[in-house]
Amino acid sequence: MWIDTHCHLDAHEFGNESAAQAALAAGQGVGMIVIPAVETANFAIVAGLAASIGNGCYALGIHPIYVPNAQEDDLRVLRERVAAAMADARFVALGEIGLDFFIPMLTEPAMREKQIYFFREQLKIARDFGLPVLMHVRRSQDVVLKHVRQIAPAGGIAHAFNGSAQQAQAYIDLGFKLGFGGAMTFTRALQIRRLAAELPLESIVLETDAPDISPAWVHPGRNSPDQIPRIGAVLAELRGVTAQQVAAVTSGNARAVLPRMPGIAGVRQEND
Ligand SMILES: [Zn+2]
Repeated sequence: MWIDTHCHLDAHEFGNESAAQAALAAGQGVGMIVIPAVETANFAIVAGLAASIGNGCYALGIHPIYVPNAQEDDLRVLRERVAAAMADARFVALGEIGLDFFIPMLTEPAMREKQIYFFREQLKIARDFGLPVLMHVRRSQDVVLKHVRQIAPAGGIAHAFNGSAQQAQAYIDLGFKLGFGGAMTFTRALQIRRLAAELPLESIVLETDAPDISPAWVHPGRNSPDQIPRIGAVLAELRGVTAQQVAAVTSGNARAVLPRMPGIAGVRQEND
């Protein structure tokens, strides 16, 4: 049984196929798909999608790429929606939040400051509700770490991890898991593949980030959550273990870091 810890299943690239894609993934053994929100406008959509498929759960948050259009009032809306979602068994985290210092427009001083403000305010919401966070970290590893140390959420995932071994260790020490996906399937991705091979397996979760970050065999096509077992098989090969081991350990890691995640239908959970 596999878990896709980061999938934008509501993205327009999926058209009206979102539920079909979830079913296709379920058929490949993907028992749970975590669907992060990106802006207040898609909060109801990700919640509805997670409820409508058998293998979905969701997070609420404002993505750094959506910060330019976000307003102060969106933080009030987010806090309100999170408070209400605490009663929803499919609500698992704050996300997607973070800092993107790669896209030029987002690195201008005023926008950098606005990103940091929205990131910190959302970390406070996560902390106040005892929730983990799903984090987008692009060219911003050390700045993200600094703010997470100051306003500590209940752990979370550094999604599409692309930092150094030292930065990986800093996240692990703060109770985070590191998300690995399609990037690790490219033989030229030496650093990511080395970390995927050498970090403790207990610190790794799998993700597609679909429709983005397609694995090598799909690139440049649209990524989808049914790719998780094949991505997991690459991790198994890099580490010299079986795919079954990778599935069991990474799924356990996902459940440990996202403890609100609902049980998988037909699969007995340890604590049931
Ligand atoms: Zn994302």
